[in-house]
Amino acid sequence: MRRLSVVIPVYNEAESLPLLHQAIQQALCTQPDLWWEVVYVDDGSLDNSMQVLESLVKDDPEHTRAVELRRNFGQTAAIAAGIDHSQGEIIILLDADLQNDPADIPMMLEKMDQGYDVVSGWRVNRQDKFFTRVLPSRLANWLISFVTGVHLHDYGCTLKAYRREVLTGFRLYGEMHRFIPAYAHSVGARMIEVQVNHHPRRFGRTKYGLTRTLKVILDLFTVKFLISFANKPIYLFGGTGISLMAFSMMTLLFLLVRRLWLGTSVTRSPFFSISAMFFILGFQSILMGLIAELLVRTYHEAQQKPTYTVRRVLAPASDQT
Ligand code: UDP
Ligand code: MG
Repeated sequence: MRRLSVVIPVYNEAESLPLLHQAIQQALCTQPDLWWEVVYVDDGSLDNSMQVLESLVKDDPEHTRAVELRRNFGQTAAIAAGIDHSQGEIIILLDADLQNDPADIPMMLEKMDQGYDVVSGWRVNRQDKFFTRVLPSRLANWLISFVTGVHLHDYGCTLKAYRREVLTGFRLYGEMHRFIPAYAHSVGARMIEVQVNHHPRRFGRTKYGLTRTLKVILDLFTVKFLISFANKPIYLFGGTGISLMAFSMMTLLFLLVRRLWLGTSVTRSPFFSISAMFFILGFQSILMGLIAELLVRTYHEAQQKPTYTVRRVLAPASDQT
């Protein structure tokens, strides 16, 4: 039997919730061979979202859970809380505002059945303001695809399905839920993109504006660093260090040659200080890389994090304990 958890962060969405729950029930109740639950996370809502959730849990206790956070921690933290409190091995993230359509879920489940680990929703007809939302999001998608090497049309779309295995070992900080696909790719997840519906907001208002794009770009640095260099930081720091030192040496060589040919002073040229500065910077950078290597070892060993991920193991039954 397949086990599905739909995880939904909720911040001031009281009017949408009953309709949303109905839509989910409609989409899932006809699915054969499926155990499912919806985990709502109330992210410190100021309206009566929590009361609405209480009544949803009362009406449909078999399929509904609600987690109430003590204050507003932000969408990413709410999602993390929901995942921690969910039980399914397939996790689908969804927004509470009815902009995503639960009717897309069965199609995504089908893709999961075909063996994909991540099914990424793509809002082809996005219904949001063009200049403050759609345009920055296009640029962000392009930038994230370029930097991480994982090409998706719509990182910002919450509606995505994940196999639980590809989510473990990844803590969500800041605005980072949108980077889960990039991370999942780095642990070897099989990924596919599907087109999903998108509706304009009917109740309440969006919680975001342009400032989020800035946060997303800053997060991108962290994610790129973590994905590409978290295991071998010396490659980044040492590489930078060696390049700087090579540059410094070349400048020095240029000064020496000039001295021999033209008799110009080496030490009185501004290039001399530049060369010295680059040398020191490069040396420092290599030392920083070594410290980072120490940190990485503490990180992996303290948390017993493996440096690899296993899809499956084939072994005779007698081997398994
Ligand atoms: N949300 C949340 N905590 C927050 C902000 C938003 O849990 O601090 C939830 C919100 O209730 C919604 C989802 O995150 O379910 C996406 O928010 P919103 O619709 O405002 O974002 P947009 O769709 O405009 O990007
Ligand atoms: Mg929305």
